[in-house]
Amino acid sequence: MTILPVIPISPDQPDILPSGLTKTRRRPSMPPRHLADMDLAARKSAVTSLGEPAFRAKQLSTHYFGRLVRDAAEMTDLPAGSRDRLTADLLPTLLTPVREQACDDGATRKTLWRLHDGALVESVLMGYPDRVTACVSSQAGCGMACPFCATGQQGLTRNLSVAEIVDQVVYLAGVAASGAVTGSPPRLSRVVFMGMGEPLANYPRVIETVRRLTAPAPEGLGLSQRHITVSTVGLVPAMRRLIAEQLSVTLALSLHAPDDDLRDELVPVNQRWKVAEVLDAAFDYAAQTGRRVSIEYALIRDVNDQPWRADLLGRLLRGKLAHVNLIPLNPTPGSKWDASPKPVEREFVRRLQEAGVSTTVRDTRGREIDGACGQLAAGELTDASAGGAAADAEVAQ
Ligand code: SF4
Repeated sequence: MTILPVIPISPDQPDILPSGLTKTRRRPSMPPRHLADMDLAARKSAVTSLGEPAFRAKQLSTHYFGRLVRDAAEMTDLPAGSRDRLTADLLPTLLTPVREQACDDGATRKTLWRLHDGALVESVLMGYPDRVTACVSSQAGCGMACPFCATGQQGLTRNLSVAEIVDQVVYLAGVAASGAVTGSPPRLSRVVFMGMGEPLANYPRVIETVRRLTAPAPEGLGLSQRHITVSTVGLVPAMRRLIAEQLSVTLALSLHAPDDDLRDELVPVNQRWKVAEVLDAAFDYAAQTGRRVSIEYALIRDVNDQPWRADLLGRLLRGKLAHVNLIPLNPTPGSKWDASPKPVEREFVRRLQEAGVSTTVRDTRGREIDGACGQLAAGELTDASAGGAAADAEVAQ
C-alpha cells in the first residue's frame, strides 16, 4: 500500500487533529452554487448576471468538463480581468482532499474529501486493463442503518449537492487523465454510485448528476448512461420513479437476503418494503430498460450463506433479467460480521448457477485501504458529523 502525501490543511482551522480529521461537529449545510449544479442555459444566465457575455458559460464549461481544468491561471482564452471573478463565482472549491491512498500497485486509489461544512466523504478510483471506474458518494453518511456496514453505523449527515457528486467524478477523471492509474486507459469511462450513502434517498440530485455526467461536453462529461450504475437498498417508490425516467443506467439492488426475516435485520428498510415488492420493482426496471439488474449480495459467514438461502434466491431470480454479484464481506473494525469461507462461497455460487442464475463473485478491490464495500473510512471517521462510508469494487457489467 502506498500512502500519498497528506494535503496541507489551513492553519485557520483549529479543530484539526494531527491525522487531518475534524474533531468538532459543524452544522451541516449545503455548499455554494457551482457550474456543475446548472445546465448550460442556467450557466449562461449566471455569467450574464456577472456582467460577462453569455458565451463565457460555454468557455468555462469546456475548461471544467472538457479539459478537466478548474484553475483560473490555465484559462488563457478568458480575459485576465474576468477569470478570477468567473472561477470564484462558478467554480468554488467544493472538495478539499484530506488524504489520498493507493494500493493494488496503483490501480486502486481512494480519496478522503472534506466538504465546505467539515463533513467527510470518500471516492475510489479503480483501474482495469480496459476501463477506469469511479465509485462516488452521494450522501455524507447514510441513514439506512445496515448493521454490517461502516457507513450505516455513522448515520446521515446530509445529502450531497449535484456539484459535490459531479466534482468527485471530474477530479477522478483528471487523475485518470494524468496516467496515474497503472495499467489502465487514461479516460475515466464508468461511474458507480456505491460510495457513502443511499443514492435513491438523494433522488433528485442523483438523477440530475446522471444527466450532467452523460450530457455531451461542454454541457457535461459525455459518459454513456450504460456505463453508470446506481445502487439502492430498495426504496421502492424511488425505484418506480427511476423506471419512469427512461434512463439506461444499470440498477444494482443490494438484496443481501432472500427472505424477509433475515432481510428485516440486515437491511432495515426491508421492514417497509419487503423482498417481493423490491424484486418486483427491480424486475420492472429491467423490463423497461432491457438492462440486467445487478443483485448485490454480501456473503456473511453463518448469517446469509446457507445452501437453502442460495436455493431460495435461485428460485426468486430464475428466468429473470438479473445477475447476482456476490460480495465477500469486508470486515469493519469491531464488527461481529465476517466473510463466508471460500468453500461455502463456492457452494453458494454453484447452487445459483444450477438454478440458471448468472452469478459472479466480486473482486474486492481496495481492501488494503478500506476502500471496499462498507469499509470506506471505517477505521478513521469517528466523528458522527463526518459520517462513515461504503465504497465498492465494480459490479459485473
Ligand atoms: S450498506 Fe449502503 S444503504 Fe446500507 S448503511 Fe451502508 S451505505 Fe447505507
